[in-house]
Amino acid sequence: MKIIAVHAYTVRNKTAVPYVWRKGLLASDEFTEQTWLRIVTDAGIEGWSCAVRGAIALDLIERRLKPMLLGKNPLQKELLWHEVWELDRIEEFPIYMMGVVDAALWDITAKAANLPVYQLLGGYRDSIEAYASTVTYATTEEFLDVADQCLARGFKAIKLHAWGDARKDAALCQTLRKHVGPDIALMYDGSAGFDPYETLYLGRALEEADYLWYEEPMREFSINAYKRLCDQLDIPVLAAETSDGCHYNVADFIAQGAVDMVRTSWFYKGGLTGALRVAHLADSFQLSAEVHGMGVENIQLCLAIKNNHYYETLIKGNPIHVEPCVGPDALVRAPAAPGIGHDVDLKALEKVAVAKQ
Ligand SMILES: [Mg+2]
Repeated sequence: MKIIAVHAYTVRNKTAVPYVWRKGLLASDEFTEQTWLRIVTDAGIEGWSCAVRGAIALDLIERRLKPMLLGKNPLQKELLWHEVWELDRIEEFPIYMMGVVDAALWDITAKAANLPVYQLLGGYRDSIEAYASTVTYATTEEFLDVADQCLARGFKAIKLHAWGDARKDAALCQTLRKHVGPDIALMYDGSAGFDPYETLYLGRALEEADYLWYEEPMREFSINAYKRLCDQLDIPVLAAETSDGCHYNVADFIAQGAVDMVRTSWFYKGGLTGALRVAHLADSFQLSAEVHGMGVENIQLCLAIKNNHYYETLIKGNPIHVEPCVGPDALVRAPAAPGIGHDVDLKALEKVAVAKQ
């Protein structure tokens, strides 16, 4: 099989449900831009994936990825994965661009095999429980209201993205625990908003409130800072989400004792090929590799590997909006269609694209 064409289409949509994050982080933009990558083969099979940016993605696909791909065998995912790393050495790709080609190649491979991707990646399970991963709400009362809505919707696990104020967030986490009782799994995600002192204060409060994990409280630049944190806390510290360098970097977090659970995702770990490497690396140390973020690619990954416990689905708005893939029992079920799961209407896409090549 040979790649005979590579196209990209940027679309721009008004953000359907606006939301905010912790202090210091940008809120959702008024418009959301995405760039679809379409890889065409001489076998009549096409692979799709979606980058979460507009102009940057379009530029990198046109200038670097397309020339690398044309004429290659799309089934040689390992070879092409390493070639993307070589391009990264020249361009320093944003890490969300590292997996865009790989995901489309897995789409092609799975369509050629007439199977959904997760069955090729490992096929560990047929469904996975989703946790409700909140955006940041204005008050404690609103967070409790949203938590009630999540429980009524069938969720049994909730993760907070709160305000980025260690004392206020600690109080919120403890109030939420009292509100939902001991049987609901609660997690907290700091989105790298704290210094080491605030991080420790908040971590101790989360331990007291029996939280399942403490996620990315600091930027992931200093492995030493994370090692000190892991030494000081009993609650599992979940990190290496946005750190660059895929499994090469995650290996150092693990070897230094700077993490108790690691993050993996197609999005930040170089597609499904990189995400699997991270998951298997963690498994060899009997650590979990919790899948970060949403989307069909991550659903396939969640279903493929053993050492991940949930699918993360973002809860926005009040009343809450929940992704349609999450069933009333909070389970996400395996897709039956061959491929990765994108169902793109090419004619409609060509009409609405604000830029293409
Ligand atoms: Mg996170």
